[in-house]
Amino acid sequence: MSMELKLNTVEDYEQYIGAEAVDRIMDKARKLKDLHVAHINSTYYGGGVAELLSPLTLLMNSAGIRTGWRVIEGAPDFFSITKKMHNALQGGSINLTERKYRIYEQIIFENAVRNHLDNHNFVIIHDPQPLPMVEHYKKRGPWVWRCHVDLTEPNRALWNYLLLFIEQYDTAIFTLKEYRQNLSIPQLFFKPAIDPFSIKNREMSESDIQERLDYYRIPTDLPIITQISRFDKWKDPMGVIEAFRIARKDAECTLVLLGNIATDDPEGEQVYNSILNEQEDRIIVISRQDTSLVNALQRRAAVVVQKSLREGFGLTVTEAMWKGAAVVGGNVGGIRYQIGDGIDGFLVSSIRECAERIVQLIRDEPLRRRIGEHARTKVKNNFLLTRSLEDYIDLFSSFETIYCLRGTAGDR
Ligand code: UDP
Repeated sequence: MSMELKLNTVEDYEQYIGAEAVDRIMDKARKLKDLHVAHINSTYYGGGVAELLSPLTLLMNSAGIRTGWRVIEGAPDFFSITKKMHNALQGGSINLTERKYRIYEQIIFENAVRNHLDNHNFVIIHDPQPLPMVEHYKKRGPWVWRCHVDLTEPNRALWNYLLLFIEQYDTAIFTLKEYRQNLSIPQLFFKPAIDPFSIKNREMSESDIQERLDYYRIPTDLPIITQISRFDKWKDPMGVIEAFRIARKDAECTLVLLGNIATDDPEGEQVYNSILNEQEDRIIVISRQDTSLVNALQRRAAVVVQKSLREGFGLTVTEAMWKGAAVVGGNVGGIRYQIGDGIDGFLVSSIRECAERIVQLIRDEPLRRRIGEHARTKVKNNFLLTRSLEDYIDLFSSFETIYCLRGTAGDR
């Protein structure tokens, strides 16, 4: 059987970004034709970084930039060390022994041996897990550290340790200007983006939505409130449950907490087990990687909640806003840059406030619709994948000039 296999191209985005933007991006991309780039991160699914890299690396290839995506390997005990680091970067405390730092560096060294990155014009390392890889190569071109976490208040002891690696990079990229750090290398700020053509984000018929909800026995007789997140304490699932319990006294509804567990997040199971105890008729907890269910829930829910306590960016917010959902988000990190409070969503700073906004939105369908329309426009203008592609193309072009790569990198 022959099937038509295809990649999305920048031209496919014309319907959203216009012909002029398509031409501008493709002109810039042509100048970088055959550039050889590698992205490295620590999980192939289950979090925002994988969600971004999966379509971005394909779009880069379709724009003529030879782009690879590699995922480092490690056992859960390695990832429990890096998860502690992630928590500490988001402001938690940390108490790693010398032995754990040694394991971290040893496993990354082993990954460096297995991954031959000596041939690339650009290497982009995502987040702290693969950070020390930079030590083990003779650089042929710039190495960039792209950190996605909420760096509002990083643990200083850990940051000072990581600095030894960070400053070996040519540039660090953070999600927001307010995550800027005191570094000797240049810092840039890139926001993530979503792929409107993916299974998660593309249009879905009402019957397909209903089929997914029925499959999981999600009742649709009352308005649905949902939060879709990795099972992670920073996403505050217990806070969502409490807000729901307050809200439903005034407006009947059903809560669906959908989550997954990323391969680089061994704490997920514990968080999942703790909220399982809260399940009841109207509090449905699902742990499953079902991309169409994410799409269906974001489309059908009366209110999408993302009540994070820390959030680097929050792609779940972007995805829901793209679908015209009314989103209630924690007033933290990247969520604040997506939701304009009262215009294209609501920002909340407490459980009570979250409950109040849920009730208000359930009761006011025209408000939901108005907010949803603004939300979709916001995403269309700011957070589609072509914008992210152009950020990287501009970055590569700026280095092209500095490093004169065309003359020196002989592998193209
Ligand atoms: N996600 C998913 N299934 C789930 C929970 C989350 O596919 O059950 C996806 C979600 O749609 C989003 C990503 O995982 O694309 C989470 O990214 P976000 O930036 O919101 O948070 P992170 O997990 O990176 O902290």
